[in-house]
Amino acid sequence: MNLQEAVGYRINSAFKPVGALPRHQKVSEVAMIDPKNPSDIAREALKRLAIRQLAPTPANYQACYNEIAELPNLPLFPEVQLRELLGGLSARNETQEMQLDKFSTAIARRSWQGVKEALSTFAMAGERAHQDVVHAPLMVLPVEFAGKLARFVEAVLPALGDEQSRVVGVSCELIERLRQPVVEIASAQALLGSVVHQAVFASEEQLEIKNLLLKLLHLIIQNIGELSTDDSWLKGQIDGLLASVAPPLTLRHLDEMERRLRDVMEKQGRAKSRAVEAQAEMRHMLAEFIERLGVMNRSSSAYEEHIEESARQIEKVSSLDDLRPLLDDVIQATHAMAEETAQSREQLKSLQEKVTVTETELRQLHQELDNASALARHDPLTDALNRKGLEEAMEREISDMRRKDTPLSVSLLDIDNFKKLNDRLGHEAGDRALVHLAEVARRSMRPSDTLARYGGEEFVVLMPDTRIEQGIEVMARLQRELTKAIYMAGNEKILITFSAGVAQLAVDESGTDAIRRADQAMYLAKRAGKNRVMGA
Ligand code: GH3
Ligand code: MG
Ligand code: MG
Repeated sequence: MNLQEAVGYRINSAFKPVGALPRHQKVSEVAMIDPKNPSDIAREALKRLAIRQLAPTPANYQACYNEIAELPNLPLFPEVQLRELLGGLSARNETQEMQLDKFSTAIARRSWQGVKEALSTFAMAGERAHQDVVHAPLMVLPVEFAGKLARFVEAVLPALGDEQSRVVGVSCELIERLRQPVVEIASAQALLGSVVHQAVFASEEQLEIKNLLLKLLHLIIQNIGELSTDDSWLKGQIDGLLASVAPPLTLRHLDEMERRLRDVMEKQGRAKSRAVEAQAEMRHMLAEFIERLGVMNRSSSAYEEHIEESARQIEKVSSLDDLRPLLDDVIQATHAMAEETAQSREQLKSLQEKVTVTETELRQLHQELDNASALARHDPLTDALNRKGLEEAMEREISDMRRKDTPLSVSLLDIDNFKKLNDRLGHEAGDRALVHLAEVARRSMRPSDTLARYGGEEFVVLMPDTRIEQGIEVMARLQRELTKAIYMAGNEKILITFSAGVAQLAVDESGTDAIRRADQAMYLAKRAGKNRVMGA
């Protein structure tokens, strides 16, 4: 029901309808007035109200008036109230503002349709604005999240490269944006997109740089090694270093490398200064020796001349008396010569002793350096051979195997669930467990067998003169020994078990290939439930 119908309904139901007047009466009443004169119409309207016994309401008066003025019987247009309503409304957005203008125009034109349209659009625009307000938090990042994201980008940035790179630029821009009080999702998302894009390039570049640096380091170490081929100790250390400068590059790896390098530098420094000292001593002694020889030479030639001269004089003398002073002279010269020779002999003897002492010292020094060189082939934690040492031992065993035509077996063992042990008892307890295993292994192996630490918790055992069946038996025995020799971590008894694979080398097989086969068998042992030995 529209407004007009509603007004009509009320008039029709509450009062007698104007249209219900008797036809004759209506015609005569209308005929008496001038429809153009408002005061006539007004007077006549009042009369009609009275005649029809209608209540004197503005609506009834208006209805009578319209009827007389022959105007459509529209209800009153509530301009004043609508203006009041308009004054009380305020726009929350542009659309609402426009609708208020339309509302005002519609009032001025007395257009119900216009009022209706303006009001309903105004209301709808308000609804949308309300929804926008309700959903507003979705369009901006929560402050805490934005802060954390900024901190994350800031923390990751140094890993992505130098100050100049483009990723730094966009990342700084993003961080700045994220630290603003209000962060719009759309703008942060766009910046984050470019940061990710640049970060991909930067991290690829970093990886390449890392690999290149590693190669370079490898080259430098190799070069140092080649420069000092005559120094077997240094060569041993360099080989060890080369073995440890292999990817993957881990912090542990680098730590170990640093330790080795310091060791090399320190030992090299010590050995060098002592060798220089010893060399100086030798040089000094040699100079003394030469001087002594010279003195001896000079004094013996002086003696010779003296004797020759005396001989010439003796030929000339005729009396014994004349001969006596000459003989005295010769005897004295001979004494002097003998004395000088004895002195020289003494000095030479002491020089020789000194040389022997220095020589012994130098030999000891070399021995020490050789021992240190052996260290470069050992794992410092377990004292088993390291990869470098294993390589050399493998080479030796393979050539022995070929020369003597005897079997050679190799086993690779990997401790079971070692990560759990580390996680539960700590890394140090893990380290001690490795030492424990190496000790038990050394005890249960033959002296000709070799134990090497192949990686973290993996060991290789070389068993010369051993067929695969015997090799499997050796490893199974080691397992039994380990169950007997319980490892104590504090007060806790820990049972260490391992899985192993055993391979017997084929005649022309390389050590690396044999270890690979043993590794595959070890993997099968793990798959089969661990704590077992399998042949390859
Ligand atoms: P699995 O039985 O399958 O071999 O399980 P695992 O946990 O032994 O094997 P995984 O290879 O997952 O973990 C080996 C662990 O050995 C991980 C590493 O932290 C630890 N590890 C490697 N080297 C050392 C070391 O020198 N000392 C200590 N304490 N732990 C090490
Ligand atoms: Mg492992
Ligand atoms: Mg393991």
